[in-house]
Amino acid sequence: MLDQLLSWYQEPMLLKFPVYTMLLSVGAFLLLALPWTLLAWFDPPWARPYKAQDKPFEVRRYIGKNLRLIAGNSTLVLLIFLAAWPVVRLFGIHDGPRPPWYEFVWQITLFFILDDFLYYWMHRKMHENKWLLKNVHSVHHQVRNPSAIAGNYFHWIELLFTAGLVLVGPILLSSHIEVVYVWLFLRQWQAVDGHTGYQFRWNPLSWLPFYHGAKFHDLHHETYKGNYAGFFPIWDRVFGTETRPGRNV
Ligand SMILES: [Zn+2]
Ligand SMILES: [Zn+2]
Repeated sequence: MLDQLLSWYQEPMLLKFPVYTMLLSVGAFLLLALPWTLLAWFDPPWARPYKAQDKPFEVRRYIGKNLRLIAGNSTLVLLIFLAAWPVVRLFGIHDGPRPPWYEFVWQITLFFILDDFLYYWMHRKMHENKWLLKNVHSVHHQVRNPSAIAGNYFHWIELLFTAGLVLVGPILLSSHIEVVYVWLFLRQWQAVDGHTGYQFRWNPLSWLPFYHGAKFHDLHHETYKGNYAGFFPIWDRVFGTETRPGRNV
């Protein structure tokens, strides 16, 4: 039994899956969030007309706690994944021959839609369940006027839930590990973009169909309700939880 356990923990996928995905995830997030966070930090007058909220950014107040949360939560969630490795290794995510480019495209497109749908319901339940709201999700809502770095300002349980949802698609499709890497990079870009606090016309993500830019999620932070989807506002429209400027649900 012990030999079996040891052999599982010597598998190359232990590094490639839980360890590298967490490092890539945190590294990509920090890299993508850095320029936006600096912009909010200095809050230059030329960028102010593009701000999602008129209020001053609070990034100088919370950045210390934000960075401590990212470091602490990522370490804790990684340890949980490592402890659960005997189960996680059965997820079907593999490092076989690299799949063709179109497999990356269709799988990741599907992950975006599935993850956003699941995230909508998880996020909504975290608001409807008073215990979860008070003890877990309220941490993310300590930031009322977000800048990019706040995209990972979470209670560790919320990070664990979010990471779990992100993996549902790859587990269902038994994806290649490199598909998972690209997916995580794009998912972190999405987390950053929803919290930038700015609505620039040149932002390439603003050209995507159905996406409403940072304003959509920013309103959620400002009003504390509605707009539960992560990326596609369509879920809030379908389920009647949309918040628009000056109009609460
Ligand atoms: Zn919320
Ligand atoms: Zn948020």
